[in-house]
Amino acid sequence: MMDFDFTMLQQIGYIASAILFIYGLKMLSSESSAAKGNMVSSFGMLLAILVTLIDVINPVLMLSAILVGGSIGAIFALRVKMTSIPEMVALFNGFGGLSSYFLAWSEFNNQTEISLVMTLTYLTIFIGGITFSGSLIAFFKLSEVLKNTSNFVNSASRWMLIFGCSFALLCILQIVLNVSGLLILEMDLIRIIFVCFLIASLITGLAFVLPIGGGDMPVVISLLNSLSGIAAALAGIIITNTALIVAGCLVGASGLVLTLIMAKSMNRTLYNIFFVGYAASGSSDAEIEGEIKPITAEDAFLVIEAARSVLIVPGYGMAVAQAQHVVKELGDLLENNDCEVSYGIHPVAGRMPGHMNVLLAEANVSYDNLLEPKDINPKMDIVDVAIVIGANDVVNPSATEQPGSPIYGMPILEVYKAKTVMVLKRSMSSGFAGVQNPLFFKENSRMLFGDAKESISKLVAEFKE
Ligand code: NDP
Repeated sequence: MMDFDFTMLQQIGYIASAILFIYGLKMLSSESSAAKGNMVSSFGMLLAILVTLIDVINPVLMLSAILVGGSIGAIFALRVKMTSIPEMVALFNGFGGLSSYFLAWSEFNNQTEISLVMTLTYLTIFIGGITFSGSLIAFFKLSEVLKNTSNFVNSASRWMLIFGCSFALLCILQIVLNVSGLLILEMDLIRIIFVCFLIASLITGLAFVLPIGGGDMPVVISLLNSLSGIAAALAGIIITNTALIVAGCLVGASGLVLTLIMAKSMNRTLYNIFFVGYAASGSSDAEIEGEIKPITAEDAFLVIEAARSVLIVPGYGMAVAQAQHVVKELGDLLENNDCEVSYGIHPVAGRMPGHMNVLLAEANVSYDNLLEPKDINPKMDIVDVAIVIGANDVVNPSATEQPGSPIYGMPILEVYKAKTVMVLKRSMSSGFAGVQNPLFFKENSRMLFGDAKESISKLVAEFKE
């Protein structure tokens, strides 16, 4: 009987899964096909796992690990609140980095002599370690357990970062010199250096993300996502697994593109984000002039009913309140009232890239009505009413008016230029960047306090009466 070529079958499986990954990724570019795209890519990953099982030494152990890991992941994903998805994604990125870190570590333990593969092993551990510890910090920052770390850790962590990167370079150089015969170190000494390297990579990740705050976090999260992919691709090269290389490259490249897009829309260079930070000098404690003018839902209704053009600006608070459906209902009622309605979408509003787009798409708001800051800012002075729904940092004029503010330099939606600004939030507490917002004290601002969904429902009810 002819021998069946399992390796060939495995390679065909990997190619098929790579096609599914790419096709799924393509489908993610439009809201209508995104959910299907996710399924297609997940199916590609399932196929990759199944064909990998063909030649593993202990399939039972492997299946048990998949079962335990898959169940934990599924339970988390099913239980997580919509508003905590960004934290969950940060954690998943981190675990991706950690698995590449462990994989490279175990490969190092299998190596008996110094070789060029070791260079890849070191690189994988370095990038995987940074991704893991950096993502953990991102997780704690997103869940607001860690707040305002930018100032007190700034200089210490910069030194830790420089130390970690230099140490990594020295270790990699040492391997290259060993392989080329210019330096002879014993394997035992290499192992000691390796243990220090394992720790140094984790410290570098902490030092990298701890000082970053305010408007820069979205860019860092995209970069960590990209790094998790690069680490996986390198791990794939070490163990010669085609699916891992392809999936890693796709995540690495798409994450990098997203990082560049986010940095560009925040008007920042990557160097500035990682090594300078917002408001590198000056103070953010400027006195805010003016007073708060609360408004009732009944009076707010009279203002928006008379408006001929309304700009709705959603932020993280809309996601917390899950107010997207009533927001759409209010938008429709305004349009029926002969009012021109548009939505101002800031690229970092919410807690993940595209957060507002996803929520508004879920409520069937037309994509054509969504305007970016560069489209709406020049026309802001002809907007009758800007309704700010749970947004804070993305409409904070300190970003343009107050040098020294932690968000100074970040582009914002300039709603303060509208004829009237109606701000819907529960209290006077600050946004993610932790800075007070002078918008709330401006002459043309009115504060409608309360949960966004409840406040908008009251406005909708007034319209319907
Ligand atoms: P902010 O975090 O600045 O402000 C959100 C506001 O929503 C708060 O001031 C809060 O005030 C209010 N709020 C919360 N819950 C409710 C509720 N139920 N009803 C009404 N209001 C509510 O959000 P923005 O969207 O303006 O800005 C996003 C921030 O997050 C930026 O600093 C950005 O850099 C950062 N970030 C963004 C990421 C991304 O990828 N998009 C990722 C990581 C960080 P109160 O408590 O008084 O109600």
